[in-house]
Order: sequence, then structure tokens, then C-alpha cells
Amino acid sequence: MGDHGGAANGAGGTFLSGSCRYRRVDIFAVFNAESPKFAEIASVAVRKCELCPRRCGVDRSAGERGYCRAGANVEVYRYGPHRGEEPPISGTRGSGTVFFGRCTLRCLYCQNYPWSQEGAARECSVGDLAGMFWELWKQGCHNWNLVSPTPWLRHIRIALRMANEAGAFLPVVYNTSGFERPETLAEEADFVDVFLTDLRYAREESARTGSGFAGYVAAARESFLAMWRLAGPLRLDEHGLAVKGTICRLLILPGRAEEAIENLQWLAETVGTEVAVSVMAQYVPAYRAAQVGSPWDRGITVEEYDAVCRTVEELGFVHGWVQEQGIAVPDDLLGFKMGPSRPDSRKAATLVAENGCEKHRGVKT
Ligand code: SF4
Repeated sequence: MGDHGGAANGAGGTFLSGSCRYRRVDIFAVFNAESPKFAEIASVAVRKCELCPRRCGVDRSAGERGYCRAGANVEVYRYGPHRGEEPPISGTRGSGTVFFGRCTLRCLYCQNYPWSQEGAARECSVGDLAGMFWELWKQGCHNWNLVSPTPWLRHIRIALRMANEAGAFLPVVYNTSGFERPETLAEEADFVDVFLTDLRYAREESARTGSGFAGYVAAARESFLAMWRLAGPLRLDEHGLAVKGTICRLLILPGRAEEAIENLQWLAETVGTEVAVSVMAQYVPAYRAAQVGSPWDRGITVEEYDAVCRTVEELGFVHGWVQEQGIAVPDDLLGFKMGPSRPDSRKAATLVAENGCEKHRGVKT
């Protein structure tokens, strides 16, 4: 829908612009209550939760909580255009990022710990989530970027359907630690266009220490292969924006650079060097890392960084990105320094076409 329109004549009024008539609506109210159609599809049940490899089996709809502490209602900490992702994801107008609460991995060095582990995200309705997707689309973001979506896949699926039914469409980016079940990806995440995933560890001992689950290595590799089957190599549009495919992130961990190297070797041997890789040098000893001690309590060294970069070249990867080392991450891109979305940011009014104009599609209520 167009952002243009005639001069506003007050909330709830109508607008005239060219041949199109508009009315102002509270988009969150529309998704939450005004439309019987949306109310009908808004209920979500998560019983016997086995969405991630921990397979807790808890009845979240009845108030039980598993390892990730996710409950019945979806939780969001913040949403908005984000410019800190890889260039085909951020583009020029930003990636429409939704930072979901809770996490299935809970790493000891997590940069997003206030909302991934300490409950700082706010519970919201599926209609609220649809309203956020709508706003991000209307703001001109290039995609919907779902950060740590796994416990909320059923809520997200419905919210995306609501946004789609209202006329908003964007590629969906699944932004994950890589700790996934192939069954869940196939059955609950078939709306995804681009997988932005991690291979975090190559040794079980590191996975157990860093993220409390020795089985991460096998699970992440298996789920990477499932993503590769579902989406394949990264494909860009004529503007260089991601429309489909898989990007594999490799976060260099202090004292464990050889594990990033082993994962690069595994990628080269398993799927080949056409996969887009993103080497990340932004580790900081956040959350519990400083107390845990060496080597988690330091940044990565020049030698560790150089060894991983050298491997990328030697193995022949040609698509991807390598973060500069030693560049401080700006506060607005560093998880634990980012503030939440304010509650009143969910009262956005939007103009929708009343007369079915094809050029200016609006909310179908
Ligand atoms: S999503 Fe949460 S509750 Fe469900 S299996 Fe994973 S950790 Fe357990």
C-alpha cells in the first residue's frame, strides 16, 4: 500500500487521494479484535512441546514451561529495522527484525541475555505480532527477520498469515543458533525463505560448557543439512537482496578457533564451497562469560581470527563475509545494550484503501 494520501482529517476519518478513498485504522486493533476472520485463526496451542532438540514434552498451553521457559503467549522484546545483519539481509532500508523472548540454547556468553534468558520480553497476542509484521512491511523493510523464533513457530505462522491476508508480503528470514530439529523445520517452518543459521561448536565438550547441550554439534549439522535441502544456496534479486537460500554463520569463540575451522572443513566436504559463509569476530564476554573464567572471559586474538580467515580462503569459499576484528560494535547493534520496544509503539495508525484499489491494497477486515 502507498504511504501517500491526502491530508489527515483526524483519527477515524476518511481520506481522498486521487481515485482512492482511505480510512485511518489502528492496525493492532484490526488484527486483535475488529475482524471475526482474524479472531477465528488467532488461537495457538503448544501441547507436548518438542519444537527443538531438547524435546521437553511440556504442555505450554496449560502453563508448563520447559528448558527455554517459553509459555503459552508469544514474547517479543523489540522490533524494528535492523542494519547490523549481512548486506543482503540489511540492504539499504534495514531488515524488519523481531527479537523474540526466550531461547532454546541459553549460551553462557549470550549478548541478548536480558530477553533470551532473563524474561525481559513482553507477552503479546498473535494479533500484536501480526501488527508488528505489518508495521515493518509498511516502513519499507526488506524482509521479516525472526530472531530466535523456534519456541514461537505456531504463533508466527498465524501472525504471518494475518499479515499476508491484509496484503503485506516480505521474504521471511529464519535467524537461529542452528539448534533445530529437521522435523520441526519441515512441518512448522515451511514459510521460511532464507535460513540465517549458526554452526557454533564442533566439539561436544564445548557445546556442553557453552550452551548446556553436548548434542548441539550433531543437531546443528543435521539441521543445517535440512535447511540446505529446503532452501539451497543463497539467491539474490537484482538489487542484491536475499530472496531465498542459506547463510551459515561461524562465530569465532576464544580458545576455540579450531572449531570454526573444523566447521568450515565440514561445510566444504559436505555441501561444497558455494554455501555463503559469514565469519563473525564480534565475541564479547557478555552475560556469565566473565565469571566463568578463561578463555570465555576474553575476546578473540589476532592469531585466532587470522587462522579462521585463512581457512576460508584456502578452502575456496567465494560467497560470504568476514567481520573486521577489533571494531567495536555500536551500542544500537549490541544486544544487551538495546532497549525494548515501548508499549505505546503498538498503537500505530495506518491508512488503508477502502475501495478495493489494486494499487493500494489495504487491510481486509
Ligand atoms: S521449545 Fe522450549 S519447551 Fe519446547 S522443546 Fe524446546 S526448550 Fe523445550
